[in-house]
Amino acid sequence: MYGIPDNLTDVIAVEVVEGQPIYIKVTEVHWEGHYPHSNETIFAELTEGSSEKDITIQIKKLLKRKTYIRKCEYCNLYHINGWMHGKSCCQSCAENKFGVIY
Ligand SMILES: [Zn+2]
Repeated sequence: MYGIPDNLTDVIAVEVVEGQPIYIKVTEVHWEGHYPHSNETIFAELTEGSSEKDITIQIKKLLKRKTYIRKCEYCNLYHINGWMHGKSCCQSCAENKFGVIY
């Protein structure tokens, strides 16, 4: 829905409440040692009644916003920064390909 990649449906939320603006939220994850801390940030606010197309356009923008999301060169999937091992490699590829242990 709205072009949210399957692996990001847990971290990108589109909140549609009647009579309220539509909020697109992204969950950011920060690590303290092995403990993840997540917090939700509002990425965009759209006026009530915005079309599915308008929302999809915002999701596309969000996927390009490197402060939140990066694309892994190896699996070609988008990940939030908290799941990235480096700028272009996600944590699961780092584990699978380079033997990094998380
Ligand atoms: Zn990957």
